[in-house]
Amino acid sequence: MRIGAPRERAQGEARVALTPESAKHIQKLGHECVVESGAGRAAGFDDDAYRDAGVEVIDGGAALWSAADVVIKVREPDEEEVGYLREGQTLIAFFWPAQNEDLLERCKATGATVMAMDMVPRISRAQKMDALSSTANIAGYRAVIEAGNHFGRFFTGQVTAAGKVPPAKVLVVGAGVAGLSAIGTATSLGAVVRAFDVRPEVAEQIESMGAEFLFLDFEDSQDGSGSGGYAAPSSPEFREKQLALFREQAPEVDIVITTALIPGKPAPKLWLEDMVHAMKPGSVIVDLAAEKGGNCDLTVPDERIVTDNGVVVVGYTDFPSRMATQASLLYATNIRHMLTDLTPEKDGVIVHDMEDDVIRGVTVAHQGEITFPPPPPKVK
Ligand code: NAD
Repeated sequence: MRIGAPRERAQGEARVALTPESAKHIQKLGHECVVESGAGRAAGFDDDAYRDAGVEVIDGGAALWSAADVVIKVREPDEEEVGYLREGQTLIAFFWPAQNEDLLERCKATGATVMAMDMVPRISRAQKMDALSSTANIAGYRAVIEAGNHFGRFFTGQVTAAGKVPPAKVLVVGAGVAGLSAIGTATSLGAVVRAFDVRPEVAEQIESMGAEFLFLDFEDSQDGSGSGGYAAPSSPEFREKQLALFREQAPEVDIVITTALIPGKPAPKLWLEDMVHAMKPGSVIVDLAAEKGGNCDLTVPDERIVTDNGVVVVGYTDFPSRMATQASLLYATNIRHMLTDLTPEKDGVIVHDMEDDVIRGVTVAHQGEITFPPPPPKVK
C-alpha cells in the first residue's frame, strides 16, 4: 500500500504525521511512503531528508491524496480534503468524532475508512499508539518552558555573591499525563513544586517525582475518581474545600500550571479571579485547559494577557505545535505502530480487523457506516 502524508493546512499547525525515521519503519512493513512537498519543513524535515529515507515527494495536496491508499495526518481534514477522500481509502488523523459529527457524516458518505488517533483505548497494549499521551507529555513540558519565558526569576534557588535567590514555587493543578510532565520539568529546573489532583491515587506519583502532594482533608477521599483513570466532576462540598486550598496557595506560589480536565465536559474553573488578584506581580499562570474553556477565570484562549496586578496568564492552545519536531517524531511513531498492527504479515497488505480492540476503538467510519462510539475494549 502507499502511505501518504499531506502538508497540514490548519492555521499555525507545524507538525507532520510522517518523518524520515518513521518512513523507514513503515517501508519495512512492505508499504511505500509518499509525502507532499514541504509537509515536514516547519517541523525540521526537508524534502531531501524524506528522499534520502526512500520516500517519494509529490507536489500538491490533490496529487498526494490521489496517490495514497492510506492518508496519515495530524489534524482532521478540511472541506477540500474531504473532497479528495474516496471509497477504499483510509484516513488516520486526530479527528475528535464526538465534536465533529457533521464532518464524520461527510467522511462516511465517501465510503472511506476513518481512524481517529484521539480514540486509542487506554489499554496496556495500545500505549505505543497513544497519541494523546505523547501530545500531553509535550504540552506539560512546554508549559513550564513557556512559564519560564515569562517569569523574571530563576527556577532554582541560588546563593551568589550578589545575594540569595529563593527557588520559584510552582503549583501544578491536575496530575494526569500533562501535569506529571510539567512536575518533572519544573523539579528538574530546581523549582519547589506542589501539585493537586482530585484523584488521590496520583499522590504517590507526584511524590516520586520530588513534588509535594497537596492533601485535601475530605471525608470521602475517593471523591474525584471516575472510570478508566479519568476524573469525575467534584461535589460542591469538595469543590469548596479545593478552592479554599487554592486561595491559601495563591499569594505564595510564583507559577501555576493548570491541566485539569474531565472527559466530555468543559474544563472545571479552579483558579478564580480573586486568586489571580491575590498572586504576586510577576507571577505566571499557564492554562493547559484553555482549549476546553480554561481552568482559570481570566484565560483567553490562544492569547497571553497581563492582569492589572502584573500576573501573566498564558492561554495558548498550540503547545505541541510549538515543539513541532519533537511532537512530529512522537506522533509519527504512534502512527507507525498503528500501521504495524494494521499490517500483521508485514507484507504491505492492510488487514482492518474490527475484532481487534485497538483497531475497533479508533475506527469511526468504515465501509459506509459510522462506527463511533465503539463498544468498550474486551481486554484491559
Ligand atoms: P486528563 O487530561 O483527562 O485530566 C488531567 C488531570 O486533571 C487528571 O489527572 C484529572 O484527575 C485532573 N482533574 C480533573 N478535575 C480536576 C479538579 N477539579 N482538580 C484537580 N485536578 C483535576 O487526564 P490524562 O492526562 O488523560 O490522564 C488520566 C489518567 O489516565 C492518568 O492516571 C494517566 O496515567 C492514565 N493514563 C493511562 C493510559 C494507559 O493505561 N494506556 C494512558 C494515558 C493515561
